[in-house]
Amino acid sequence: MTSNTTSSWGASTPGHISLGGNPGADDGRRDSVATDRAVVSAPDASAATAAELLPRTADHYDLFQDVTGEDLKAWADARSLADEILPRINDWWDRGEYPIELIARLGELDLLTDGLDVPGHRTLSPLATGLVTMELSRLDGSVGTMVGVQGGLALRSIMLLGSEEQKERWGDSLARGAEHAAFALTEPDHGSDSVSLETTARRDGEEWVLSGEKRWIGNGAGCHVSVVWARVDDPSDEQLHGQVSGFLVDQSLPGYEAEVIRGKVALRAIHQAHITLNDVRVGLDQRLPEARSFKDTSKVLFATRAGVAWGALGHAIACYEAALEHATKRMRLPR
Ligand SMILES: Cc1cc2nc3c(=O)[nH]c(=O)nc-3n(C[C@H](O)[C@H](O)[C@H](O)COP(=O)(O)OP(=O)(O)OC[C@H]3O[C@@H](n4cnc5c(N)ncnc54)[C@H](O)[C@@H]3O)c2cc1C
Repeated sequence: MTSNTTSSWGASTPGHISLGGNPGADDGRRDSVATDRAVVSAPDASAATAAELLPRTADHYDLFQDVTGEDLKAWADARSLADEILPRINDWWDRGEYPIELIARLGELDLLTDGLDVPGHRTLSPLATGLVTMELSRLDGSVGTMVGVQGGLALRSIMLLGSEEQKERWGDSLARGAEHAAFALTEPDHGSDSVSLETTARRDGEEWVLSGEKRWIGNGAGCHVSVVWARVDDPSDEQLHGQVSGFLVDQSLPGYEAEVIRGKVALRAIHQAHITLNDVRVGLDQRLPEARSFKDTSKVLFATRAGVAWGALGHAIACYEAALEHATKRMRLPR
């Protein structure tokens, strides 16, 4: 039995993390880059109106013009961050570079909670949650995905299914973006059918021993904690044996190996990892107690489905605005 079973970031025998190199990257960073985006910036996010955030030229049915109050404030906060990021996002995208410091910036603006009730943080309404995802995805899908992974999936798993101690340990820290978390469900052979996952959590005395592989895991490499979904192997517990449950796995633990997946054609400014779990040992208190079967995993997934649609809407608005700008402002050769 090892003593290194709880969340201690300074683990004596750290897990192996490979960032897989950064092909084509050079050391110098351009301060700004030309951008072909046509996002219209609000002059002052704190005093923005809905029409400034989404001009009527892109909101033909006035669907968003009556957004007010806290919903408008959250939307404007997301826009202010988008304005900050806009000059650099294409550069990160070209390089396939993950500006992970943005997680803390998202936390400063309290944009990471995805509608969850986290003590000390504002609780966004479903509309505000959607508008934030829409606005960040209008800038770039990678940034929308940062909120989706850290807040929507990882933080949500803990807040919905965790113990009071787990919520206290992680809730505020993840909502502030002080630490970074992953949601590790998909496996090389199980994506759409994730219910058939093969990763196991074998009970060994006072520990769980996790073995298996996970793929496409945002924040899965070089971050702090992964919520790993695994099938319980514990014949002494009739109810849990054979069921899927969630486990909080410190990414620096021995046996946790993660490699960033390269060569993506989309979401290039955020990293996903291929994770191998080689008998990773965590304490019994690292299992999410309310995660008793895949039905509980589904509760987390279900709560994030609207965000996928809001993100797609953000992409569509950005495409429309870029096309509109191009069509109306492009200089043509004289006939
Ligand atoms: C950029 C990115 C980020 C991701 N982030 C995460 C993350 O943070 N955490 C995580 O756990 N996972 C993550 N994933 C994994 C994602 O959830 C899976 O890619 C997704 O579930 C699909 O699984 P798959 O890739 O194995 O595709 P498959 O399941 O093999 O599907 C391939 C195609 O077949 C279709 N298909 C599948 N089954 C059927 C069927 N029965 N009938 C008809 N058509 C079918 C699908 O619609 C799809 O078009 C991420 C993936 C990507 C690409």
